[in-house]
This record gives sequence, C-alpha cells and structure tokens, in this order.
Amino acid sequence: MRPTPLNPLFAPVTALKGVGPRLGKLFEKLGAPLVVDLLWHLPTGLIDRRHQPKVIEAKDGEIATITVTVDQHQKPHNPRQPYRVRCRDETGFLFLVFFHVRGDWIEQQLPIGETRIVSGKVEHYNNQIQITHPDHIVAPAEGETLKPIEPVYGLTQGLTPRVLGRAIDAALARAPALPEWLDPAYVKKQKWPPWREALSAVHAPESDDALSPLTPPRQRLAFDELLANQLALALMREHVKRVAGRAIVAKGNLRRKVLAGLPFSLTRSQQAAIEEIANDMRQPMRMMRLLQGDVGSGKTVVALAAMLDAVETGAQAAFMAPTELLARQHHATLTQLAQGSGVRIALLTGREKGKPRTQLLHLLAQGDVDIVVGTHALFSDDVEYKDLALAIVDEQHRFGVEQRMLLADKGKGVDILVMTATPIPRTLMLTAYGDLDSSRLTEKPAGRKPIKTVTMPIERLQEVIAAVDRALKSGTKIYWICPLVEESELIDLKAATDRFNELQKRFGERVGLVHGQMKGEERDRVMEQFAGAGIDLLVATTVVEVGVDVPEATVMVIEHAERFGLAQLHQLRGRIGRSDQASSCLLLYTPPLGETAKARLTILRESDDGFRIAEEDLRLRGAGEVLGTKQSGLPEMKLADLAVHGELLAVARDDAQLIMTRDPSLASPRGEALRTLLYLFGRDQAVRYIRSG
Ligand code: ADP
Ligand code: MG
Repeated sequence: MRPTPLNPLFAPVTALKGVGPRLGKLFEKLGAPLVVDLLWHLPTGLIDRRHQPKVIEAKDGEIATITVTVDQHQKPHNPRQPYRVRCRDETGFLFLVFFHVRGDWIEQQLPIGETRIVSGKVEHYNNQIQITHPDHIVAPAEGETLKPIEPVYGLTQGLTPRVLGRAIDAALARAPALPEWLDPAYVKKQKWPPWREALSAVHAPESDDALSPLTPPRQRLAFDELLANQLALALMREHVKRVAGRAIVAKGNLRRKVLAGLPFSLTRSQQAAIEEIANDMRQPMRMMRLLQGDVGSGKTVVALAAMLDAVETGAQAAFMAPTELLARQHHATLTQLAQGSGVRIALLTGREKGKPRTQLLHLLAQGDVDIVVGTHALFSDDVEYKDLALAIVDEQHRFGVEQRMLLADKGKGVDILVMTATPIPRTLMLTAYGDLDSSRLTEKPAGRKPIKTVTMPIERLQEVIAAVDRALKSGTKIYWICPLVEESELIDLKAATDRFNELQKRFGERVGLVHGQMKGEERDRVMEQFAGAGIDLLVATTVVEVGVDVPEATVMVIEHAERFGLAQLHQLRGRIGRSDQASSCLLLYTPPLGETAKARLTILRESDDGFRIAEEDLRLRGAGEVLGTKQSGLPEMKLADLAVHGELLAVARDDAQLIMTRDPSLASPRGEALRTLLYLFGRDQAVRYIRSG
C-alpha cells in the first residue's frame, strides 16, 4: 500500500483547485495526468520581473512590472481591431492591448479608476508605450502572488503559463516533507538539501545558473530517481534469484539437427551467442541474458537454438513479440525453420479466441505444445504451462521490466533471454536492465551487400517515382515509408493515404497500404501479399519498423526522413538489404534541414553499423530520447539526464547493492523511507518483491 502522505500527490490533476476536466485533458497532453507529474515538470527558463519602472522609463523590448491606474477602455469597432485599455501613472500613459479577448473579461480585470500591477513585454508603437497581452494583471492587494522571478515551463497548446504556474504551485503546496531516504553522510558530503526543499528550490530558480542540471537540488532529485530505478531493479533481481533456477542440460542434438538443415551457415557471433546461452541454461541459476544485434543480424535463429535445447529436455519455451504482426511472422518463420524436427509450435495472440484458444490452452497445459509464440497474451491469467523453462522476449524495449517478470512467473525458475535490435549504450543499459549479461551479434550474415543510402529533397519526387518505376520493372519489391507522428495521427494518415492514391494511379493494383489504424487481419493480408504475390510497392506508416522480413524488398523510400530519429531510421532501413541483391534507401527530406537533422542523415549515409549509430544518437539527442522512450517501455527518466548524471547513476547502483546486502527487506527506518521513495517514483511493482521480514 502506498504510504498515506503520498496520496495527495497521486490524485489526478483535476483534484487541484481551478483545474477542471478541460484543463485536465491539457495536462494529460503535457504528460502530467497526476499531481506528482507536475512536481517533475521542471522549469526550462525564467522571466525576471524585478524591473519596476515608471511608465515613461519603460524601454522598448524589456520585461517590466508597472503600477498603473486604469483610465479608459477603447473598445474595438470591428473584431479585427484590438481592445485597448489606457492606463496611466504620474509620468504618462500605458496602453494595454488585447486581440480576440472577451470584453467582459477585460472589464472585470481592469475596472476604470482602479490601481493594477501589470507585467509583460513593453513595446513602443506609434509613439505610444504599450504592452500587448500582459502576462499578469493583479490588484495591489494580491501583489505578492506576482513572483519577482518567474519560472518558465514547457507548455502544450491551449495551456497558458499562468494556469500551469498556478497548478504547479498548488502541486508543490501538496508535497509533504518526507523522511530522508538517502544515506545522511552522503547527503552531507554532497551538500544536498532534503527532498522537499530541493523540490521548492528547483521550481524557484533565482538565476540562469539555477537551471543547470548540476545544481545541488537538481542533482539530489536526479539521484532520488536513479536510486529508485536501481533499487527497483535490484529488488527484482533478488526476487528472480530467490526463485531457484534450474539447470537445463541438453545434449544439443535437436538443435544441431535443425541448424544443419538451414540453407546457410551461422556467423561466428551467432555461434558464440548460442554457446553463451546454452552455457547459462546449463547452470542451476536463472539465466537473465540480453541478446543485442542489429536488424538482420539473425537473432531469430539464435533464439530457436536456445528453445530447441529446452525442448530437448522435455520442457517448453515461450517466445514473446511486441505486436501481433510480428508474432505471426515469427511463428511462420520458426515453424518453417523447425520443419521436420517434430517440434510442436503454436501461436497465441489476442486474436486467438473462443474454442481454438481453449484447445490451445489445453495443449499448453498438457505439454502437447513445445514452443508457443505470441504477444503479451502469453502471460494472461488463464494461460498455464505444463513446464515452461525458457522465455524469450523479442524487441524487448517495448515491454517493461514488469511484463518480463510476469512471463517469468509462469514457470519455475524460468530462464530469460531478452532480444533487442536497438544497440543500447552502456549507461542506458544499466537503467533499463541493471547488470544483465549480454551477448552481441556484431556481424552481418555472409553475402549481404551493403545498402546504398542517398538523401534527396522532396522537390525531386518525380525522379524518385521514375526510379521506382524502373525498379518495379526489374522485379524488385519496394517499401515507401510515410512518417506517423503520434500527436497528429490523422494528418499523417492522410499523407500516407494521399501518397498511396497517387502511386496507385501510376502503378495500379500492385500498390498496397498498411497503417496503424487498420484492423489486424487486414494489415496482415496486405503484408502477406507483399511478402508473397500481388503487392510490390508497399506504402506504410512505421508499422513495418520492427522485425518484418521480406528479403525480396531491396528498395526503401522514406518520406520526411528529417522527422525520424536516427535509431528509428536505422531500424527502418534494416528492412532492406536482407538478400544477396544490392539494396538502396532513399531518404526524402523537406528543406530547410536543421543542424541535427542534417547530422543524422549524414551519419546514416556514412554508416550501417547499429552500435556506432546508437552512440551517435546518444550524442545528438541526449539519453532521455535515444530510444523514443514513449513507445520504448524503457524507464522514463524525468529528473535525471544520463548524459549529465552518468556518475550519479554509478553511485546509485552501488548504493542499491549496499542496501540489498544490509537491509534486503527494507525494515530499518531508512528502509521504510526507501519504500516511500519507490512509491514516489511509481515502482509499486518492485515493492511487492521486497522480501518480508
Ligand atoms: P533479426 O536479428 O533482425 O531478428 P532475423 O533473425 O530476422 O534478424 O534474420 C534476418 C534474415 O537473415 C532472416 O531471413 C534469416 O533467415 C537470415 N539469416 C539469419 N542468419 C543467417 C546467416 N548466418 N546467414 C544467412 N542468412 C541468415
Ligand atoms: Mg527480429
């Protein structure tokens, strides 16, 4: 149970005074559905309102706070004109100018004859001194609500600084002082303030220096977050270790038989990874291993080898993919690879329903299925395994740590292999997985031709279409990617549909369209036609990003390439270059290109090495965004910036380990406080793994 003092922080923002459902929606868009999220919404700048000139002294372009008497309302004659309010002090007139603002609101804010303190940017216009849309209008009695130095926060459309500022103040007022969860000696050494004080301080910066992530209060909060993260991971690891593992000692005959039947020979790093995994599985401890390999490096075969070892010993294996489409494709691939081996492979996704599902669950429980491939449906409550020994999680970063644990809890001492196509820089790896063992596939399968990548402004679209025409005539399959940006899904969908219509007009029925709004079956049908016969040019939003395998596709056109992240472009491009045919990737961009976008496209043109691209990505974007945290499932750091707080991360990890040695059940007073810390950062699941007593 969450400690009671935290409850006011875990209420929805609409619990704050003055925040109704309409504002609630806006806060949600801002990423702050709960009061606590507002605490984490740190200022990015400040406005100094300490300058208080007389009207005559107010200079053009400066921020001024001026005390005036309201003199006269000059209402507009037509709606395009502004509503002007003349105010004065003993030195002259100050005009307040409003566009498209309700007259009754203005009258209410600025009654004639009253004194008001107004603050905003001064303009000299037509020999008059004016402020357009003052940031603040307050009566002298409320003078102290006007902060001399005002923090500036990131906003979302429709949300004004004033409303957000007030909500954050209200959230801060709800934040209680909490018992110290950090080691007192360390806090003292770092000269860090207590949590509550640190929080107030970061929201009341007094100078630009105070906005740096390296101030003591900011470091303190960053460390709190990192410690919560590391402690949560440590608790889960403990939990995993406590559930004793099992030794899976396979002779490897089944594996060798299947691998021998493959039409290619394994790369050296595939062989090494298979050995490392088999070795882990032989140990009585539980395996927790990460398999990192670029798109197309051949992770699936490695996974199959591990599963066959488990199956050989009479146990079961589960293979979890992030989407239905991928689960189906993996199921098809694995079934084909394991053909003739007698291994029984089944598919379980959200789409398997009713009687077939019941039958499948029965087979799983009886042990009449050896390998089951699926989505998160694999760990639904009613799914039982006869003897699950190995869980493989593909494209892991889409799943949270918690989901991984749920799957692992379906068996006794289940070994876990996590696969990811996004090479992860070391620091990120630590926050996402703690100290996980890892294997890397560093080579591309033999015979692959490098992908030729070119960038081109969208004006040259007709040339691109002509090239597509030639490629289609020579029997190539082509991806045509349109971006899908979450905030404006409908607009992007229209862009994709328009492009599809245009290409279809030109190339006819062999053009297909897939996008995220389509029903699963429909999408699969189009994908199948693209993989097989019927469709040669596939217009797609980024649904093809992960895992899809159509080796005959050797051309990819990416529109608005400047809008994608580096890692994402690399992922997308990995869909081609999967056969012995030369492949080419055309990155279309809309000029002008910003510096970062230019750098991204250049790196992509120069390199096809996922590990290098990941490092560059970290450099260009900062750690917070590397994997597109939103859909990544990686723990989202709100206060810590790994590019800056890397050292704190190492300390947090050591501290978490020390805590686990000294007080694994978090029973001491500091342990109690640490529980509060875990809840504060939403690690409720981890608290459940604390060993009792
Ligand atoms: P990813 O690592 O992206 O999941 P896949 O496992 O989907 O890659 O493999 C990509 C393609 O390469 C598949 O068609 C697979 O059969 C093939 N492949 C895997 N290993 C090799 C190899 N050693 N030599 C040639 N082709 C391979
Ligand atoms: Mg894959």
